[in-house]
Amino acid sequence: MGQLRFKAIELAQSRNPIDVKETNKRSEIFGKNVFNESTMRQYLTKEALKGVMSAIEHGKKIDRKIANQVSSAMKEWALSKGVTHYTHWFQPLTGATAEKHDAFFETIGGGLAIERFDGDQLAQQEPDASSFPSGGIRNTFEARGYTAWDPTSPAFIYGTTLCIPTIFVAYTGEALDNKTPLLKALHAVDKAATEVCKYFDKNVKKVTSSLGWEQEYFLVDKALAGSRPDITLTGRTLLGHSPAKGQQLDDHYFGSIPSRALNFMRDLETESMLLGIPVKTRHNEVAPNQFELAPIFEECNLAVDHNSLLMDIMGKVASRHNFKILLHEKPFAGVNGSGKHNNWSLSTDTGINLLGPGKTPMSNLQFLTFFINTIKAVYNYEELLRAAIASASNDHRLGANEAPPAIISVFIGEQLSKVLDELEGVTKGKLSPEEKTELKLNVVGKIPDVLLDNTDRNRTSPFAFTGNKFEFRAVGSSANCANPMTVLNSIVAKQLKDFKLEVDALIDEKGLKKDEAIFNVLREYIKSLKNILFEGNGYSEEWEKEAKKRGLSNNKTTPKALKARISKKAIELFEEMDVMSRVEIEARYEIEIEEYTMRIQIESRVLGDIAGNHVVPTAVRYQNMLIENVSGLKEIFDNNFEKYASEQILLIEKISEHIEAIHSKIDEMIAARKEANKIENAVAKAEAYCFKVKPFFDEIRYHCDKLELMVDDEIWPLTKYRELLFTR
Ligand code: ADP
Ligand code: MG
Repeated sequence: MGQLRFKAIELAQSRNPIDVKETNKRSEIFGKNVFNESTMRQYLTKEALKGVMSAIEHGKKIDRKIANQVSSAMKEWALSKGVTHYTHWFQPLTGATAEKHDAFFETIGGGLAIERFDGDQLAQQEPDASSFPSGGIRNTFEARGYTAWDPTSPAFIYGTTLCIPTIFVAYTGEALDNKTPLLKALHAVDKAATEVCKYFDKNVKKVTSSLGWEQEYFLVDKALAGSRPDITLTGRTLLGHSPAKGQQLDDHYFGSIPSRALNFMRDLETESMLLGIPVKTRHNEVAPNQFELAPIFEECNLAVDHNSLLMDIMGKVASRHNFKILLHEKPFAGVNGSGKHNNWSLSTDTGINLLGPGKTPMSNLQFLTFFINTIKAVYNYEELLRAAIASASNDHRLGANEAPPAIISVFIGEQLSKVLDELEGVTKGKLSPEEKTELKLNVVGKIPDVLLDNTDRNRTSPFAFTGNKFEFRAVGSSANCANPMTVLNSIVAKQLKDFKLEVDALIDEKGLKKDEAIFNVLREYIKSLKNILFEGNGYSEEWEKEAKKRGLSNNKTTPKALKARISKKAIELFEEMDVMSRVEIEARYEIEIEEYTMRIQIESRVLGDIAGNHVVPTAVRYQNMLIENVSGLKEIFDNNFEKYASEQILLIEKISEHIEAIHSKIDEMIAARKEANKIENAVAKAEAYCFKVKPFFDEIRYHCDKLELMVDDEIWPLTKYRELLFTR
């Protein structure tokens, strides 16, 4: 009788924190398990080091000879640290990371063996690609794909395995992973941004995209989580009545961190530090048992790898501390969900943050150029950006009154809005010397001062400027950042490329000076940007109406949102920027659509199972207890019994009604699923799951949650919200 639940509660309550000491000097352990520049200096010849560094900095190819030197140095380093295996570590389109460990160990005949790891093994591997999603690029008969070393992300040791970050591509050349298009997008934005930078500083040779993610998550005791089939199988609760106390007191946010959680965090941070993930911030989040971790920002590709790696390590460390980590965007109804803010910026090899206001009018004009072009890029491709964060789990969050809405808009704050207004008034064409002085001194020149006190933050905005970077807040907590970062960097690259063409045309054809031309183009942009800029409450109904008038998309569900991924505009963009081919784009779309269907299908099955096999039988059992009680009362009080049994009788009736409703809704849901499963077309099938199957979730849940409130707590089988959320 509800035994698993009570055993789990007992176990969870009896847990003591696994004491983890604070490592007092993080800097000493930082990157200890990474084959980084400092390790390479120790282990590599000058020639090999130069080869790797120029591959990292300029994308130069590494030749066979150098690869052999690097692999042998890596092996030596790894063996010195007790490593026995190596793996190519990559990010297939499942969104997770993949690895297949091979031992260094090899026999050489005559009963002898050696540890071998040569340049070929470092540079390329052929994992059996047939079990990874490929969206039909590669059918299983020619299950050939290969992984290739990405020297821009350093190799690292995890446990006793040397992990080599790689890309994963089909033999026909198409990307089968998240990293390949990201690297291409980063290359595209580097190229386009460097060209634009040259208007301001001829010495700029490279522009790097930076990413600082903030990872939100829930920690739930392992035994409690394990007692819930829905958490175990779907990562979220599919039912459960809200506890009497939720997050209304706001007493968790930034509160003192519970000691079990703190010990987990210390352990996690030590592991992260060893792997070179520069974790810096930890705090409680808004919901009970919800937390956040954020590192110092890094080069985008490395930051993406580090986030994927971290999500993997989190699960392992959590398990050591008897926790289950929930990265799902909405594990619990009624309390906040989790996101992953992506702080993004561009910086030059001359050390300038292009989204940070500068000290001189010229550097501020550069800032405004990148600032306005980014907003323009977001405006032009808002629907594609929305698609980049679409998933079954993020659908719960976007537009759910707590997270950014499904409408993409940009928040820049009052001060910068004023600057844009002033720039909009700039005369068309050539500027008089007075106008130039006025502009430089009073508009562009004022920016550093105004930003200092521009501290207001609009938490409801999906894409906000926060002083020296943009913060893309709508990314889901369980997402791989590669996809949103690929889109963001690609659209900014495209926009900067177009900007350069427009400015050059004004210089060459209209004889304008460089800064006049820049002002002119920016002014025209500002006029068009009114539609995407929004400073108000993104959760409000008025905004939905207003956004519609402005022509902004509001795609609330994944099947709708994903369509933008294969629009003509998107395909042209990615092809022009050399990020993805049509085949790759369509394959990805297919994979994402199918993944959506599978997620909803699994949830639907699990919900049917829990409602039908856990909730209903428990309700029946309780109802029988009531019936027994009523017959007992009848025996004692005879005709007068109704005076004493009326409440029970009412309850018996209500329970029957809920049971009936659950049964019929489950039947209808199963019928809807059967219909959906008959559909051949993947998109139509996903839509059927979204619009025909999923709506039953809330209905079934409603009745189950009502029963939870009626049935004797002693026999309720499912661990309740208050137990999941408040056991620490
Ligand atoms: P918050 O947004 O929580 O107030 P911060 O503004 O300090 O906190 O920064 C949040 C995140 O933004 C951190 O992870 C930080 O590393 C990152 N960040 C700061 N500057 C940049 C940048 N130039 N590029 C990318 N990320 C950045
Ligand atoms: Mg933030």
